[in-house]
Amino acid sequence: MSTAGARVPGPVAIIGAGIGGLTAALSLQHFGVPVRVFEQARALREIGAGVTITPNAMSVLDFLGIGPALAEQAGDTPRYFVRSAADGRELERGPDPWSFVPEFGAGYCNLHRADLHSALAAAVSSNDQDAIALGHRFDYLEQDGGTVIAHFSNHTAVEAPALIGADGGASAVRDTVFGGQNASYTGHVALRALVPVARVPEAILADPYTLYVGAGRSLIHYPLRRQTTMNVLGNAQAAQWQAEGWSIPATVAEFLGLFEDFPEPVRELIAAIPGPDLFKWGLRDREPLPAWTRGRVTMLGDAAHPMTPYLGQGACMAIEDGMVLGRAVAASRSIAEAFARYEAARRDRANGVQLAARYQGTQHHGSTASGPSSGKTAAALGLFSYDPVTEPV
Ligand SMILES: Cc1cc2nc3c(=O)[nH]c(=O)nc-3n(C[C@H](O)[C@H](O)[C@H](O)COP(=O)(O)OP(=O)(O)OC[C@H]3O[C@@H](n4cnc5c(N)ncnc54)[C@H](O)[C@@H]3O)c2cc1C
Repeated sequence: MSTAGARVPGPVAIIGAGIGGLTAALSLQHFGVPVRVFEQARALREIGAGVTITPNAMSVLDFLGIGPALAEQAGDTPRYFVRSAADGRELERGPDPWSFVPEFGAGYCNLHRADLHSALAAAVSSNDQDAIALGHRFDYLEQDGGTVIAHFSNHTAVEAPALIGADGGASAVRDTVFGGQNASYTGHVALRALVPVARVPEAILADPYTLYVGAGRSLIHYPLRRQTTMNVLGNAQAAQWQAEGWSIPATVAEFLGLFEDFPEPVRELIAAIPGPDLFKWGLRDREPLPAWTRGRVTMLGDAAHPMTPYLGQGACMAIEDGMVLGRAVAASRSIAEAFARYEAARRDRANGVQLAARYQGTQHHGSTASGPSSGKTAAALGLFSYDPVTEPV
């Protein structure tokens, strides 16, 4: 552990113990900066779903010491294919999975979100057993030139030298500091499920990491936890959406109805979903923000740049942010300098990926039976060659 650059008496407050907040905590701890992460939930938990961690984020997990065990838990990453939903024709194939480490210095892992989240939380807590405070829902803050005071709905308040809003897409920190920014419904609904491998059709297992693109819809599946579970994520257009949240129960009949013209193995895979393990949510999008920092408060992850899932980069961007934030603090002599360096290093990259993900959604869903379009994957866009561990800050 090296010594911190920026003088930070007392722990830095991080709001939200999600993937981004915990990565920032671990990165700051690595550089000798004490942190306190305030999470609204009374227990740490993650939703049952997969998350793709590409080399640009895997290098961070390796650097912070938790990458190798997570890669071991995940098992080998199969080769990625993009196929037409109309006839199963191959439109694109991803790079050889063995090429990632030689080319980018880090691997590519499909992780169970709970495995990633627990590894981050365990590492943060083993550095400092008091680092994560549960049951703290952030309400509002006050700041002056020297300090920030965060107020929580449990009627406690905490004074900190700086505060990082890592409280996700509906960020209360962002609302407090920059005013309410309404997210708009994209017209796309997502459905997700985990299917035990024993129920997965043979044809799907033969080609386990595939994205099908079709008119107005796309569906991706990939295996998790050493091929014991298949992660399934479908996206479809739906005119209206009211409910908030990532875990609204859906039915197999509803999922099948939306994908009834997809190839037979895909329909068999949907039909094999255990009923209670199927959820849906409405995809929301926001315009990129021109600034993430005000005084002693900055933001990261979905709080700063929520994005649609079409490039599979939301968590990766949160991990990149967390790493760079720690490095910026270590390299600076004041919080103002650290946050300015952090934002300058990150804003164009993350806002650019946010817009690219939006565009990618229109490409997938613009596919027609006669002319499927795979758009450009994160690999083809060159996103993996950014290394948050070594990029200048
Ligand atoms: C099903 C699914 C699949 C995905 N797949 C991928 C993928 O393959 N690859 C990828 O890179 N990205 C993926 N994403 C996107 C990715 O998960 C998000 O971009 C990522 O979780 C953002 O991390 P975060 O830490 O910024 O926010 P979050 O993960 O939302 O964490 C925010 C945390 O803040 C807490 N919080 C919220 N409000 C408050 C408050 N007022 N006070 C205190 N705490 C608060 C929340 O409880 C939560 O713990 C996927 C998302 C979903 C839903």
